[in-house]
Amino acid sequence: MNQVLDIIADYLFPSDCAACGKPIAAFDGGLCGDCLDEIKEPVDACPRCGGQVRGGTCVICSDRAWYPDRCFAAAEYSGAMKALVKNYKFQKRRKLYRKIATILQTAVSSASLEVDTVTAVPMSRAKIRKRGFNQSELVAREVARNLGWQYRMLLKEVGAAGTQKDLNVLDRFLNVRGRYEYSGENLCGARILLIDDVFTTGATINECARLLKGAGADKVYAVAFARRTLYQEMQEIMGDVP
Ligand SMILES: [Zn+2]
Ligand SMILES: [Zn+2]
Repeated sequence: MNQVLDIIADYLFPSDCAACGKPIAAFDGGLCGDCLDEIKEPVDACPRCGGQVRGGTCVICSDRAWYPDRCFAAAEYSGAMKALVKNYKFQKRRKLYRKIATILQTAVSSASLEVDTVTAVPMSRAKIRKRGFNQSELVAREVARNLGWQYRMLLKEVGAAGTQKDLNVLDRFLNVRGRYEYSGENLCGARILLIDDVFTTGATINECARLLKGAGADKVYAVAFARRTLYQEMQEIMGDVP
């Protein structure tokens, strides 16, 4: 029902492109064609975790227990994709979930994954109240609906929600322990597609995949909207990049 209302609202209230600000027609889903064309997949992605490979070594998953069977991001976190995600998450332009889902579906379809259940990285009630929605869940539900897979929220965020940004890579992998929980029945060899928003160190995705595997999942495939490199994040923290 919500989806139908969103489509009607798009038609009645065309908006501006979330990236360049140009007025756009109804049904463009919040991003103009030029900006959509600009969105690119990461070119230097590690085949195991999707992180950045530098000098032949993955900066994310080498020397680390890594649980997802596949992990990749639909796009680089830059340019139009970054503007799209920021508008969606921080300006609360909720309806942009449909455009992000379309971009994700392209990446998921070309990976030819066999999936039983789609799920999302969970968000605590307090955070959902603050933002109004769980950005990963809305996109994951849409991807599931469009690809004909079932959606289930499998995990819960239960731990303290301290920020990851001030921690180094190793500490982030430790900090995320105990933050999420699975309490349902055994997943009995299910093949799960896990959706997250922005991949930086992969600590969140790895922890969620660890729990799902521990709950009996056979495969966990993880897909993020976009990948931000550690270097990009450092620039953001230093304030070099808007
Ligand atoms: Zn645009
Ligand atoms: Zn890797």
